Amino acid sequence: MSLGIAVIGTGKMGADHVRRIHRTTSGAHVAAVADPDEARAKEAAAGIDCAVHTDPAAALSAPGVDAVLVASPGPAHEATLLAAFDRGLPVLCEKPLTPDAAGAARIVAAEQRLGRRLVQVGFMRRYDSEYVRLKALLDGGSLGRPLMLHCRHRNASSPSFFTTEMLVNDSVVHEVDATRWLLGQEITAVTVLRPAPSSYAPPALADPQLVLFETDGGAVVDVEIFVNCGFGYQVRCEAVCERGSAEIGTGQEHALTVQSAVDGRGRRGGEIPPDYVVRFADAYDRQVQAWVDATHEGRVEGPGAWDGYAAAAVSEAGVRAQRTGERVPVLLRERPALYA
Ligand code: NAD
Repeated sequence: MSLGIAVIGTGKMGADHVRRIHRTTSGAHVAAVADPDEARAKEAAAGIDCAVHTDPAAALSAPGVDAVLVASPGPAHEATLLAAFDRGLPVLCEKPLTPDAAGAARIVAAEQRLGRRLVQVGFMRRYDSEYVRLKALLDGGSLGRPLMLHCRHRNASSPSFFTTEMLVNDSVVHEVDATRWLLGQEITAVTVLRPAPSSYAPPALADPQLVLFETDGGAVVDVEIFVNCGFGYQVRCEAVCERGSAEIGTGQEHALTVQSAVDGRGRRGGEIPPDYVVRFADAYDRQVQAWVDATHEGRVEGPGAWDGYAAAAVSEAGVRAQRTGERVPVLLRERPALYA
């Protein structure tokens, strides 16, 4: 049986997921799409036999919808998630679960009332082959206890609506989840340092920034976030452990090495992916396939509502740290048994 999926929000990520489900994912098909921008919804659904709506609720109620993929902007996630829960529909929700910890806590509370998990959060790095290998290496223990992570997260340029806060709660939120997952530890405090901004960043944007996490296992994590680096999309992570270090994202696996003649001189260099859709294409494919497979079996796996809540709480502390220049503790609620 094929799983009928409603895709809510058909912008950059949503349209990519529609294409993925239609062409790549097995055991699933696009049953409906919704976007307030009707032209965008129709464009994403072109050539696919599915319902097209401007109202997300109408798409959730369309015939043949068994599950939902949410790819609208973060502030719209909560309403769609609760509407999906009312219909008992499993959801794959793009990050962030919600932009604020209070909203994420309401999603956690709603799942507790239902007595079961329905949502997986789109922290797709957990499905990236390089991250999976690093996680297995750390869990295997051959390098000893992880002491530090050095992370770099760079985009060629930022969209016009990007704010200083979004460097933390929209971009670094991926490193928040990666840190919690790789180390199996909670983040307890955030500090943000801001160098003099790049003159190539938009005037109102404090770009780049250096974000520091402390964890309850005693690890320290630094994240360079630079969203107008100009040269492409790069995500790197080096884990420094007691008996060695391991690094991913150096371009060995996800990029070509090119040798050519430039201006009559031989050059050797690598390609850098232009954006996350290219760099993490395999991870998105695996994430959606794993969600479809688990949904067929009535299971929810991968990062869930609790992980979305924890990430939102760390992001909130990070934004406060940006504003105050101070070290801001992260105060998490007690983890409910549903997420043990
Ligand atoms: P986008 O602006 O390109 O697209 C968002 C779309 O949602 C637009 O077409 C907009 O018209 C539509 N929309 C607005 N309000 C809506 C509502 N209430 N219901 C349904 N649709 C609505 O944004 P994007 O870059 O595609 O981001 C979408 C989501 O994906 C965000 O949560 C974002 O953080 C996330 N994202 C994830 C990754 C990743 O690597 N996992 C990367 C980029 C974006």
